[in-house]
Amino acid sequence: MVEPAHTEAARLILGLRSAGVTEPRVLAALEAVPRDLFVPRIFEDRAWEDSALPIACGQTISQPFIVGLMTQALAIEPRHRVLEIGTGSGYQTAILSRLARYVYTVERYKTLLTEAEARLRRLGAANVITRFGDGGVGWPEQAPFDRILVTAAAPEEPRALLAQLKPKGVLVAPVGKGPVQTLRRYLPDGEGGFRMETLGDVRFVPLLEGVAKEG
Ligand code: SAH
Repeated sequence: MVEPAHTEAARLILGLRSAGVTEPRVLAALEAVPRDLFVPRIFEDRAWEDSALPIACGQTISQPFIVGLMTQALAIEPRHRVLEIGTGSGYQTAILSRLARYVYTVERYKTLLTEAEARLRRLGAANVITRFGDGGVGWPEQAPFDRILVTAAAPEEPRALLAQLKPKGVLVAPVGKGPVQTLRRYLPDGEGGFRMETLGDVRFVPLLEGVAKEG
């Protein structure tokens, strides 16, 4: 028997809550965004599982728990302007768009960006501004940002992005060169430096330089 999507969503949300995603606004966003719209058709029946899934161009849509964890760690307020690096499917973007005033998102694969834009339009996420480019350099014209989220693994501390953070901002990024990275949260220390916290081990596709030539 095929379960109605809302039953599956409710089950996922229960699981996320017991795993530590407790912020009500974050859980509400995760419940409201139809993840089945963001996964390839062949994985549609697994859309509400708590697992990462392959998308086009050899990339992945993140695991809902990790999306919840990162979004919660950002502590987004409704007036915030958020920068996201790595649009991918647009799923995390859609979650952010429900919590922030504006979401600026950058993707280095043109096809992924075009597909994500269509999904976000369909959902009526009118506060998302997209860019095809290398997100490793951030978005200087729109900086500074209240919050920055990197959804691809930065090989080392993402300095260019930290420089585009407001004095009371928060940046969350997976950092590391190997297949397993550390999820980090950076907060400005008020003296030109940053306080860094680690939030656990994660597995992200790498943050690559430049735009993709194909796809
Ligand atoms: N947030 C996405 C996760 C996508 S995976 C989702 O929910 O679906 C990470 C994405 O980061 C990939 O699409 C990859 O192409 C992109 N990426 C990697 N390096 C990048 C860079 N330098 N600039 C912009 N996007 C990048």
